Amino acid sequence: MTIVRPRIVIVGGGFGGMSAAKALKRIDADITLIDRTNYHLFQPMLYQVATASLAPSDITAPIRYILRNHKNVTVLLAEVNGIDVNRKVVSVDIPAREIPYDFLILAPGSRHSYFGHTEWEEFAPGLKAVEDASEVRRRFLLAFERAEKAADLEDREANLTFIIVGGGPTGVELSGALPPIAREALYRDFRHIDTRKTRVILLEGGPVILPSFPQELRDVALKSLEEIGVDVRTNSVVTEVNEDGVRIGDERILSRTVFWAAGNEASPLGKMLGVPLDRAGRVLVTDDLSIPGHEEVFVAGDLAHVIRKDGRLVPGVAPAANQEGVTAAKNVIRILRRQPTRPFRYFNKGDLAVIGRSRAIADFGKVRFGGRIAWLLWLFVHIMYLVGFRNRVTVFIEWAYNYFTYQRGVRLITNAERRRPAAPLP
Ligand SMILES: Cc1cc2nc3c(=O)[nH]c(=O)nc-3n(C[C@H](O)[C@H](O)[C@H](O)COP(=O)(O)OP(=O)(O)OC[C@H]3O[C@@H](n4cnc5c(N)ncnc54)[C@H](O)[C@@H]3O)c2cc1C
Repeated sequence: MTIVRPRIVIVGGGFGGMSAAKALKRIDADITLIDRTNYHLFQPMLYQVATASLAPSDITAPIRYILRNHKNVTVLLAEVNGIDVNRKVVSVDIPAREIPYDFLILAPGSRHSYFGHTEWEEFAPGLKAVEDASEVRRRFLLAFERAEKAADLEDREANLTFIIVGGGPTGVELSGALPPIAREALYRDFRHIDTRKTRVILLEGGPVILPSFPQELRDVALKSLEEIGVDVRTNSVVTEVNEDGVRIGDERILSRTVFWAAGNEASPLGKMLGVPLDRAGRVLVTDDLSIPGHEEVFVAGDLAHVIRKDGRLVPGVAPAANQEGVTAAKNVIRILRRQPTRPFRYFNKGDLAVIGRSRAIADFGKVRFGGRIAWLLWLFVHIMYLVGFRNRVTVFIEWAYNYFTYQRGVRLITNAERRRPAAPLP
């Protein structure tokens, strides 16, 4: 292909899209990075916002600012709502227009999925975007306010019962964070309730929590959660979620606050490529991350279904998205230089999951450990990977404050809905 000045469109300013844009810094091209938000979000620390320990601005950074020295990149704040791989255009909203490309790198990520029960979302918000985290924080804090005003014991207990559905890293991190807040940060602030009696229930449909971790670390995690006071129930498939809580077959658990951390669904943009997808809507990419029949279209991050040499799926984590973004960008450069593209190779940097306020588990293949050292490592890694010096400093200070005072800096209930009365219990 002979292209004088290539037009490269990148969809998504998350981990995959940003690393692709950075890897293309030195090439002579017109790059357009499109995102529907004006910020890059560090999703691994979303639950810190959800649990009132950090503010949204601590874990976000404006995309324009991050790419301000990338002179070949134009950033567009717009929602992509169409892709035509035959005409090589993407369509955006407001104002509606088509943007032509010579190369497309698609990295729009994923959303949580409700396994076909979209009606559950209203009662059990997930955690994927800043808005989700603010909503989780609002519901979490509001539950204590409602309990303080509750007319009877049943209503009070329902307000002091929190259910988290899904025993993967997000569910474990979220459920582990709630009891220490209720026990240490809130209990002196209320007069009619004892927040130390808060119940946190983690429901997992499968036989184990954290299935991607080895058994020995799963055991450490389970023990830590139980010590913190989380009621972990495996083999508990949720069959209904409504304003009164959840149902697991015949059993009903009363709760005013349910959070969803069970399952992911890839961005709907994948369907527009007209190539095969897996069950979660991820695009079955070729070895070099392009799509079958279109060497100029690459997919990176949570939207890509990539198989490792050993047959396992590359996990939907930030380092994988970063590495895929870089490989996709380098393959664009190789095509422009008339060189053969290279296959993607995933380098597993290890897995970490935090449990409660000072414990974590770490899996580096042969080296595995849990406890406070793992937590310190988690802390260090997450602060280092945050975008922006200001964010690193403020997060470090906030954490130190939370850790030593047991307090939460961001206990604001900010939403007009706060005045909506709780539905009466049946
Ligand atoms: C709560 C939570 C905790 C996590 N914890 C960890 C962790 O501890 N460690 C870890 O490694 N990973 C973690 N992950 C996973 C990790 O964050 C993802 O794997 C990673 O963000 C995927 O990167 P991505 O670039 O594919 O997508 P994203 O980072 O989601 O970025 C996608 C971008 O595309 C934009 N976009 C989407 N659709 C459109 C559209 N139609 N038009 C325009 N723009 C669009 C979005 O606004 C977003 O900016 C966590 C995820 C969550 C939700």
